[in-house]
Amino acid sequence: MLPDLNNLWQTTLDWSPSPQQQKQFEQLYQGILAGNQQCNLTRITEPEAFWEKHLWDSLCSLIPLGLENLTTASFIDIGTGGGFPGLPCAIALPQSQITLLDSTQKKIAYLKTLISQLGLSGVNAVAARAEAFAEQRKQQENYDIALVRAVAAAPVCAEYAFPFLKVGGMAILYRGRWTVEEEAELSEALAELGGVIEDVQGFSTPISHSERHCLYLQKTEPTDARFPRPVGVANKEPLGKKPSKK
Ligand code: SAM
Repeated sequence: MLPDLNNLWQTTLDWSPSPQQQKQFEQLYQGILAGNQQCNLTRITEPEAFWEKHLWDSLCSLIPLGLENLTTASFIDIGTGGGFPGLPCAIALPQSQITLLDSTQKKIAYLKTLISQLGLSGVNAVAARAEAFAEQRKQQENYDIALVRAVAAAPVCAEYAFPFLKVGGMAILYRGRWTVEEEAELSEALAELGGVIEDVQGFSTPISHSERHCLYLQKTEPTDARFPRPVGVANKEPLGKKPSKK
């Protein structure tokens, strides 16, 4: 069972779950433990670690934006894995629309079952590579917010996210340590993608005191027609990196 850490929610994020949301977090936890028997959804299974690294961590990025401003926003969670950060966000924002995207068919099949057990009517799950899904015309410029945690280097995550975003929309990248060198590379990539780094927020996680940075990337212009590049290219030839000389 998850620990009751309502005080910690309140003191660290100035938010705490309703009894219904607490029940859903517990169902999510039990559902992920059960799903781990079928496919590898997460290695973080100990209750306190699950609370901190999956629940708290997923939600910390939304607090600077104000949950009250996001109630009807549309989200895509790219490379969601076991449903993070998308599922905790969907529980905190029950009226939002959230698409969970992952290239692993088995994880998505299980997430579909879990979504219906949790009664999350605004959430759907799609098995596809980000680059392939973004080729669908109706997915382009379709979302207010893209969430990307632990998927690839920051410029690659930005490249996956930007075709999905409306102009004025925002990609939130979850990173651990964050350096000036990484920031310079990401800014170069964003110049090609039509965006800017709007904000970088640093957090210390409340139990293990690990370093967390959330990057808020604003889409300022329509994405150039050359994006999304074909599957695999963003990773192989990342934007913002000079090709190495032979
Ligand atoms: N976001 C989750 C989290 O933080 O717990 C899962 C992170 S897991 C390390 C990375 C996930 O990204 C994997 O489930 C993988 O299948 C998915 N992934 C990697 N590249 C992807 C792509 N191009 N399109 C869709 N999913 C991708």
